[in-house]
Amino acid sequence: MSSKVEEFGLFINGKWVTPPKAARFQTINPATKEPISSFVSATPADVTRAVDAAQLAFPAWRDTPAPMRGELLLSAARLLRERKSAVGQIVTQEMGKVIAEGLGDVQEAIDFIGYMAGEGRRLFGETVPSELRSKFCLTVRQAKGVVACITPWNFPTAIPNWKIAAALITGNTVVFKPASNTARCAAEVVKVYEAAGLPAGVLNFVTGSGGVVGKALVEDPRVRAVSFTGGVDAGRDVYVRGAHQLKMVHLELGGKNPVIIMDDANLPLALEGVLFGAFGTSGQRCTATSRLILHEKVYDEFLSMLTRRLKTFSVGDPLDPATGMGPVASEDQEKKILEYIAIGKKEAKLVCGGEKLTGGLYDRGYYIAPTIFETRHGTRISKEEIFGPVLSVIKVADYGDAVRVANDVDYGLSSAIYTRDVNRAFRAVEDLEAGITYVNAPTIGAEVQLPFGGIKNTGNGGREAGSAAIEEFTEVKTVFVDFSDKLQKAQIDSESAA
Ligand code: NAP
Repeated sequence: MSSKVEEFGLFINGKWVTPPKAARFQTINPATKEPISSFVSATPADVTRAVDAAQLAFPAWRDTPAPMRGELLLSAARLLRERKSAVGQIVTQEMGKVIAEGLGDVQEAIDFIGYMAGEGRRLFGETVPSELRSKFCLTVRQAKGVVACITPWNFPTAIPNWKIAAALITGNTVVFKPASNTARCAAEVVKVYEAAGLPAGVLNFVTGSGGVVGKALVEDPRVRAVSFTGGVDAGRDVYVRGAHQLKMVHLELGGKNPVIIMDDANLPLALEGVLFGAFGTSGQRCTATSRLILHEKVYDEFLSMLTRRLKTFSVGDPLDPATGMGPVASEDQEKKILEYIAIGKKEAKLVCGGEKLTGGLYDRGYYIAPTIFETRHGTRISKEEIFGPVLSVIKVADYGDAVRVANDVDYGLSSAIYTRDVNRAFRAVEDLEAGITYVNAPTIGAEVQLPFGGIKNTGNGGREAGSAAIEEFTEVKTVFVDFSDKLQKAQIDSESAA
């Protein structure tokens, strides 16, 4: 990327526009603290204009045959594939995840757009028999209208597309508000849809703080649904505001994801899974492994394997393919994670890491050492979402103890168990309180064709991606067609005919 700080406007009604006298903010490379791009701090009036455009564009987009909408999505997926390398670099530079993961983020977006393009030729409804003669009953899926997509910074191209592609294929028009510190990644997403030829107003892009832009979007009565991914506090605020207008609010929130390692586990396999799950994306995945629940019979052995491996785990320049972990995403993230590490030092035993890295390139960015604490269950670090490279290790006596610990948190997103006992594995699928359970694999690794989401404070009951994506963005209409040429009364005529 050139050193010039590129300026972006808002994307409203098919045009990049900069409102007069607009205030601006910059996105920052967390590996170097250098500015990347500059964005408009939109006002509530700008949000109103974006919703105006989306509302105006809605009837024609809704009436565009879904397979044609799919063709446009397919073009967007192809364009993003052509741009994958460049956009992956931007992801790494703006968010700090290592380049393999930056490219993976973009690949997930490509995969999902392609998957949704195919949905244009499905969007299945149901046909159901009637209780009356000469009567046909079916359901169809209909767009909701203008929807808001509000997204976090940790998957800055994948998560926006989980929402945007699903909303578009189902005939909605969109106002997209990305996380402020990864707005450039978001702009690259918008540029792909623009280049694919999406009609004006179908996708609109507004940047600025959640408290101003996000709030204005949620409170606009014309926005019929909000799809939000982020933290619990902001999610609750969005939910409450949406509730006043009885609008559909879809929430994907935090996690405190456990991996259980039983005494019969393949330990070398589990080691790779724990390293990737806990320290991939510097622990800043909603599905990151933040609790390692270890059976007492393998406790000492596995912990020493883990600490030995961490000695050779490289933390550094995320653009270098040899790097295992890059910086954390921002100054705010660094501050919050270091605060949790300080808490951990008081209530638990530090095994390794536990510090901000300094010297050389570390002084230019927000680098934290991969950190492990041994702790009892119940400490703050073992129960609260840290969202950083900090792993709490908890010793348990048996499977029952492991499940009790795993489930005793406020979140329920992802979970994993390593065991060679097939009965125990299936038992865990039933017992673990989480939207996702992996067997002999880490807590991370979602695939776009399967539903994604969690229980308890992780959300409010919905799922994203997979077939659930269509449910999120559509209303079901039930249709009755009576071709008997007479008035037939359900429950009354059907009962007397029986
Ligand atoms: P965040 O602070 O909650 O922000 C998420 C988005 O909401 C950003 O676009 C933010 O804008 C906006 N926002 C903040 N306050 C708002 C409000 N009151 N009204 C409307 N919008 C508001 O979360 P984050 O720090 O970006 O992301 C980290 C969190 O996301 C973690 O808790 C993680 O577990 C969760 N997450 C969950 C999933 C999942 O699928 N379950 C996936 C990824 C991440 P600004 O950027 O301008 O503040």
